[in-house]
Amino acid sequence: MPTIPSTVAAPAFVADVHLGKLARHLRMVGFDSLWKDDFQDDDLLETARAERRLLLTRDRELFERARDLPRHYVSATSPAGQLAETLQATGLTGEALARVRENRLFLSRCLECNILLLPAKPHQVHHLLPGSLLQEHEEFFLCLRCERVYWRGSHYDRMREWIEKTLSPGAS
Ligand SMILES: [Zn+2]
Repeated sequence: MPTIPSTVAAPAFVADVHLGKLARHLRMVGFDSLWKDDFQDDDLLETARAERRLLLTRDRELFERARDLPRHYVSATSPAGQLAETLQATGLTGEALARVRENRLFLSRCLECNILLLPAKPHQVHHLLPGSLLQEHEEFFLCLRCERVYWRGSHYDRMREWIEKTLSPGAS
């Protein structure tokens, strides 16, 4: 198993081009996870180094090149397996489960852009959503970059259940 220094303070990640879903799932639980579909190896290494991010990769060659950096080789192939493995390897499973159970920081980042969402009232997002939604919910979360809006509806509940199932002991 690769070694991950215990000094990785803030859990911030940068993921290679194979790991777009993993980056989204890490964002879902509030972890800062950079990903681009055209990330070149040199960019990944430079970003990991400059921003002190833990490199997540499924590329053996890149993994070897990053031997002086905090890094994790992702072995699992399924999205659920990759999330469980990554959080396990970084010692963050308990923190992630606590966030989901306590409704804390869960869905605090835009799943597409990685930036922190801003709490918003219905009148602040009325131009972005259908009226029926605005009447059903009082709290929204807005991404200022892409203008996606998030709210705690049934989709939110399904994501929480999925994370809990994925990370709970005994999950495969
Ligand atoms: Zn966004």
